[in-house]
Amino acid sequence: SAPTPGSAAAIRVDPECVFCRIIAGEIPSERVHEDETVIAFKDLSPKAPVHVLVVPRTHLRDVRELADEPSLLAHVASVAGDLAAELADGDFRLVFNTGAQAGQTVFHVHAHVLAGGELAEGEM
Ligand code: ADP
Repeated sequence: SAPTPGSAAAIRVDPECVFCRIIAGEIPSERVHEDETVIAFKDLSPKAPVHVLVVPRTHLRDVRELADEPSLLAHVASVAGDLAAELADGDFRLVFNTGAQAGQTVFHVHAHVLAGGELAEGEM
């Protein structure tokens, strides 16, 4: 079968990183998807009826670093769309908070997938 997009690059781990620890199974999460290069799990503090995070397994700081791996970025977007269709009606908002002033608190890149009903403007 075709390799999962982004699978060629080695996976980087930061042992201090909460999302690396979730990926390693050291911190529990409610997983809704996993494959060779990304996992997705439910956000601990949901801001919408469906709120999941799509997270590359490799430790990249933010979407700027992820953009250096276009096939992995595309795969994150593709998984987000699949999950919105599976868990909600297919419509979704995809958010990458980038930098502390934009509200990023976990510096391991993650796409917020918000779905499951009408989303208010300015929600996230
Ligand atoms: P913000 O906290 O402003 O949303 P980020 O964009 O960096 O900042 O998002 C981090 C997200 O990770 C938050 O929505 C938070 O609820 C979620 N989160 C933090 N720890 C966990 C965890 N252990 N399991 C699931 N989600 C988590």
